[in-house]
Amino acid sequence: MDLGITGRRALVCAASEGLGKACALSLASNGVDVAITGRTPEKLAAAQAEIEAASGRAVITVAGDITTEAGRAAALHACPEPDILINNAGGPPPGDFRDWDRDDWIKALDANMLTPIELIKATVDGMMAREFGRIVNITSAAVKAPIDVLGLSNGARAGLTGFVAGIARKTVAKNVTINGLLPGPFETARLEGTTKATAAKTGKSFDEVYEERKQLNPAKRYGQPHEFGEYCAFICSAQAGFVTGQNLLIDGGAYPGTL
Ligand code: NAP
Repeated sequence: MDLGITGRRALVCAASEGLGKACALSLASNGVDVAITGRTPEKLAAAQAEIEAASGRAVITVAGDITTEAGRAAALHACPEPDILINNAGGPPPGDFRDWDRDDWIKALDANMLTPIELIKATVDGMMAREFGRIVNITSAAVKAPIDVLGLSNGARAGLTGFVAGIARKTVAKNVTINGLLPGPFETARLEGTTKATAAKTGKSFDEVYEERKQLNPAKRYGQPHEFGEYCAFICSAQAGFVTGQNLLIDGGAYPGTL
């Protein structure tokens, strides 16, 4: 299927590894010119080489923290008029809400709510003027079914989701869609980190926790980043212009609700 996005420009945030990188790879493989961001230059260079080899398209890299004003300015300088914006950043740490102070909350809000809103603000009017835009916010299955130890994530991402619900209906008449992609458990460095944390907390081995979590999923496996990337590329396709304001789960069926 030709996704109709050859030659489009994408800014893919936090994309030197994991789900962000998978989105960048799928977009580039569908003819999109991608700019990827991340804090660690070595990881960015490795991702750039991998995506360029797989897609045959040049990739721009931007080193910086996307949750800071300077990081966002650098990303927008490298890719000033994106047709596609993938909002992503690391997830907040797990813990007990009694231990979190204002600074912890501000960090989570900056990363998982305010940064995507700032980037939408900086790019959406240009997309509307050009009558094509696809904005995808990588959030979490926790938006639909909160995970108790991830209160910072539950709260910040719910804020973003509420904000987007309001504006996604204002942009679609100009062929600009805004949607959330909600990952369940995907095999990435983040999953390795949360598995290690659970193992340390419960006294179980890493392998035990890893296997238990896998068996809890109806698919009896973890999602693979390329499955996420391909879904994202479709939501960014020319064909997906009638999909907006949605929160799309990709979780192997883990969310148990009928709707
Ligand atoms: P990951 O494997 O840890 O990768 C995160 C990527 O983002 C890395 O390239 C990292 O590179 C970059 N990054 C992190 N913080 C950044 C920042 N402030 N500025 C720029 N780049 C940054 O994570 P993932 O599994 O792909 O997860 C992506 C998002 O989905 C996260 O918000 C996560 O919480 C959420 N999520 C993941 C899962 C899952 O099972 N994997 C499930 C639900 C939700 P540097 O560290 O070098 O910057």
